[in-house]
Amino acid sequence: MTRTFFFDSALLPDGWRRNVRVEVSAGVIDRVSVDASVDPRDRREALVVPGLPNVHSHAFQRAIAGLAERLGPHGTDDFWSWREVMYRFLGELEADDIEAIAAYAYADMLEAGFTSVGEFHYLHRTSTGALYDDPAELSFRHLAAAETTGIGLTLLPVFYESSNFGGVPPTSGQRRFITDLDTFGHIVQRVRKAVADSPGRRVGIAPHSLRAVTFEHLTQLLDRYQDGPIHIHAAEQLREVEDCRSFCGLRPVEWLLRNARLDSRWCVVHATHLTPQEIVGLARSAAVAGLCPLTEANLGDGIFPSIPFRSAAGRWGIGSDSHIQLTAAGELRQLEYSQRLHSRTRNALATLDRPSTAGSLYEAALSGGAQALAQRVGAIAPGYRADFLVLDDMHPDLAGRTGDTVLDTWVFAGDRHLIRAVIAGGQTVVEASRHRHRERIDTDYRRVMVRLLGMGQH
Ligand SMILES: [Zn+2]
Repeated sequence: MTRTFFFDSALLPDGWRRNVRVEVSAGVIDRVSVDASVDPRDRREALVVPGLPNVHSHAFQRAIAGLAERLGPHGTDDFWSWREVMYRFLGELEADDIEAIAAYAYADMLEAGFTSVGEFHYLHRTSTGALYDDPAELSFRHLAAAETTGIGLTLLPVFYESSNFGGVPPTSGQRRFITDLDTFGHIVQRVRKAVADSPGRRVGIAPHSLRAVTFEHLTQLLDRYQDGPIHIHAAEQLREVEDCRSFCGLRPVEWLLRNARLDSRWCVVHATHLTPQEIVGLARSAAVAGLCPLTEANLGDGIFPSIPFRSAAGRWGIGSDSHIQLTAAGELRQLEYSQRLHSRTRNALATLDRPSTAGSLYEAALSGGAQALAQRVGAIAPGYRADFLVLDDMHPDLAGRTGDTVLDTWVFAGDRHLIRAVIAGGQTVVEASRHRHRERIDTDYRRVMVRLLGMGQH
């Protein structure tokens, strides 16, 4: 079925253009005409930008947002104590719960401006640590949640085998993540087959991190999987950097640069703690840095060195990771503000070529995000998935704004309330700022949370 859209003003790869007519079939853009005339059958909108790819998600973690903001008994909390809260919560989740939480997270993402997502999926086993009858059961639950909500999905099954460098055995809290290489290969094969030829679906691999995968097995994975995206966590925490150095004499990103043939297939998630040499090396590798500014701030990870990384022409995308808050605009704002606070400057990530800060940020996050998801998304152009955000041109916050000033206002002075409608894969999934299946998704999610948290009501 062909659908046609007419946008009075839209952000195209070559900038803002007027009177843009877009023809879409099977969820993909066929043709884009500028300075066009409107046809009565077109869906007409005033102000449209491409939907943002979200490069890093652990969907189930949406359910613990707000549950770890309380000081623990030792009087000091960090990433590692947050992780213990997350592990305890995981012990309770069944497959239906996981699908309900993922659907809730994905619906929220769509309302927040993310139209595709990279799911870094490391839950493979039951709550007791057994394999499901189908070892890919929980992968399929995430695919089902993506179908329910309409979000584009790059599924990244995670390989996880150890609790620290050198193959230290996993802890009991990690029992749901563990597979051997054969089971992992079976999961990847099952989901690859299931999504073959499905538009808006892609499968890659995610060796969890250098602390959770032995160097030997990482090398075997890279030999075995010669195509598709590869995502890995690296250098999120200083303790992890120090442990890596003690184990092998190299820092995590340094090790990857020397041994893992980093290239444009890779998304190195977080990469928070980098030396100047690693910054240049990562930028030159053409890998994407998967930045998760709100989660990194929430977990006290540290500040990614965006200013020197940009100077080295590094590529990056935005991920919402733990989903402490879901907001595409908010992630970009947090990224920019972290740099301002650190450098004591303003408009830290804008360039003279594109002085609008939000314009610069949005353009970089679109292209880096698309690369990391290995999908044709993030542009209103022929051959790309029809993912559009309709901004609310009637909202007083946007009154009198045009072009990049709209983006600057949305990112720095507005938020998701300025997104009126969302079209994902050519389908209208959000209208009046609300996902079309909101009521059912909320009901399922609320039921899960009330049961898990053992309360009578919300
Ligand atoms: Zn993560």
